Amino acid sequence: MRIDTHVHWSSEEGYVDRLVEAERRLGFDKVCLNGAVWAAHREANDEVAAAAARRPDAIVGFAYFRLGAWGPERVRELHDQGFRGLKFIRPPARYDDRAFYPVYEAAEELRLVAQFHTGIVARTPTDREHDIDNERHRQIYLDTIARAFPSLKIVGAHLGNPWYEEAGMACRWNPNLYFDLSGSSLKKRPPEFFQSILWWTEEGQYRDPEGRHAWEKVVFGSDVAIEQIGDVVNDYQRTMDAIGLPPPLQEAVFGNTMAKLLGLDT
Ligand SMILES: [Zn+2]
Repeated sequence: MRIDTHVHWSSEEGYVDRLVEAERRLGFDKVCLNGAVWAAHREANDEVAAAAARRPDAIVGFAYFRLGAWGPERVRELHDQGFRGLKFIRPPARYDDRAFYPVYEAAEELRLVAQFHTGIVARTPTDREHDIDNERHRQIYLDTIARAFPSLKIVGAHLGNPWYEEAGMACRWNPNLYFDLSGSSLKKRPPEFFQSILWWTEEGQYRDPEGRHAWEKVVFGSDVAIEQIGDVVNDYQRTMDAIGLPPPLQEAVFGNTMAKLLGLDT
């Protein structure tokens, strides 16, 4: 099973069908489509829910979740609307602010995948108005959440760019914390760099607590326009080939790991 875990909604005409067609051409079975549309300062959750209902063969709905404004009852509503994951970005306080814990608790209970933007986010002209503070996006806060909610399935986007080392160690110590490599990292960093951050294997004293290889904690996410998804696939492929990752691990990255998190058959 191949899954693109990180695609944002677009209101372009015919977007969903074009997306599904492009992903299928690239060999993907499913797309996690999220309702976070920052440029328009709104969430497109209803549109994503409709797309997931219309194309259940291909679209897995992730709702944009407004931390600080919404509580656990909203998590339940979104779950009942058919969403399988929640997308968190630009929070009004650190991700691990204890005021957000009831939200994470509900997501854990309902087995929703929690997808967090991590690292420095794109700049916009309204950042002051929206009180954008990138420090709130640090991976160490996902480490806190992962320890507090051991059954919550957490995916951090962008491997925490530029706080990669923090992301790597948080990922190693928390069995329920995963990362995607979307963003500029695969363009600017050589394969050896990823090897140095994602360095542990299944064996030995310094292994992951569950004995998993580092790349079993990595998922494929594109986070780009339809036309550029193939380019991101190539970037992942080139990096994994260069470090000699065996084919079963590559397939885990390209979708089997996320399928397990979503409770889908691989
Ligand atoms: Zn995103």
